[in-house]
Amino acid sequence: MRSTKHDWTKEEILEIYNKPMMELLYVAASIHREHHDPNTVQVSTLLSIKTGGCPEDCGYCPQAARYHTDIEGNDLMSVQQVKAQALRAKASGSSRVCMGAAWRNVKDGPEFDQVLEMVRTINKLDMEVCCTLGMVTENQAKRLAEAGLYAYNHNLDTSEEYYKEVISTRGYEDRLQTIENVRKTNVTVCSGGIIGMGESVEDRVGMLVALATLNPQPESVPINALVAVEGTPMEDEKPVEIWDMIRMVATTRVVMPKTQVRLSAGRTEMSREGQALCFFVGANSIFAGDKLLTTPNPDVNEDMEMFKQLGLNPQKAFVKAPQPETVEASESAYEALGEKPKWTRPGHSIERNETAKQKHRSLSAK
Ligand code: SF4
Repeated sequence: MRSTKHDWTKEEILEIYNKPMMELLYVAASIHREHHDPNTVQVSTLLSIKTGGCPEDCGYCPQAARYHTDIEGNDLMSVQQVKAQALRAKASGSSRVCMGAAWRNVKDGPEFDQVLEMVRTINKLDMEVCCTLGMVTENQAKRLAEAGLYAYNHNLDTSEEYYKEVISTRGYEDRLQTIENVRKTNVTVCSGGIIGMGESVEDRVGMLVALATLNPQPESVPINALVAVEGTPMEDEKPVEIWDMIRMVATTRVVMPKTQVRLSAGRTEMSREGQALCFFVGANSIFAGDKLLTTPNPDVNEDMEMFKQLGLNPQKAFVKAPQPETVEASESAYEALGEKPKWTRPGHSIERNETAKQKHRSLSAK
């Protein structure tokens, strides 16, 4: 088994991405088999614990308050609601629950305390718990770790260069800082991105350089295909070609051999044959459930039927890393510091984000 390389250059990754397809399939599938059981795929359930009303301007996201989309916003779910959904997910084969809140960053207070309680509750169900809550400080990451968090998701989305064309309300360095804060705990890192946002191949590769040169590399890398939602700045983007998805998954597998590569948003647009090729070249994780936060996803039964057809087995919880201990709130070693970190706010203008915002204003005024 070869060791993990951390000094990848853009040229090296570009060369892999651009290999003739048959060669790329062979190389990626071979590396995949060296490090993983090719017949096992991890199944996660994504729960939107707080939906919509987000102050950020991510050009792909229907949850941004400034765009005119028809998603239904929801306040933070209760711990009991989350527990009930986690139990349902477990019964249908999920080993991980990922809780997403449409926040710019975590703020100390009752809502974060409630999320910590959700983490404790799900960890006690012997499921891997992941959260995606926006930027976190080191102290907040430590409190999540102490509650029993298994993974923290914070996507880089794309290359540093193209990030400026997607989001103006925060900088790439904030993303890297949050990942660094999580790395100061035993919580594993989940970080990936989206293709199909109008970026170039160089941008896709640029994102992989940023992820693959982290040491350690993220334990989990989600690869999403944009789901172009009406009302968002990216509503007119064309669907991602399946061969682009396969190339991206295969390249991710080659440069991050031990990582779990997750097929995330956009699976409803992919044929079963297309997904099978993604599994063949290195994808070994999926999101289950008919919704991914707010966008459609294949039905669980459909996925289980696909698993049966392809001879795939759902991965059990905690096979890649041990189950974290849960410390009760009353015994916590950390207190809420009420920090107000200065996350950046570049505030530059992105034309299509501005156009979508204006459209929302004029439609709301009617
Ligand atoms: S991706 Fe996250 S941070 Fe960006 S607008 Fe959507 S919910 Fe907010």
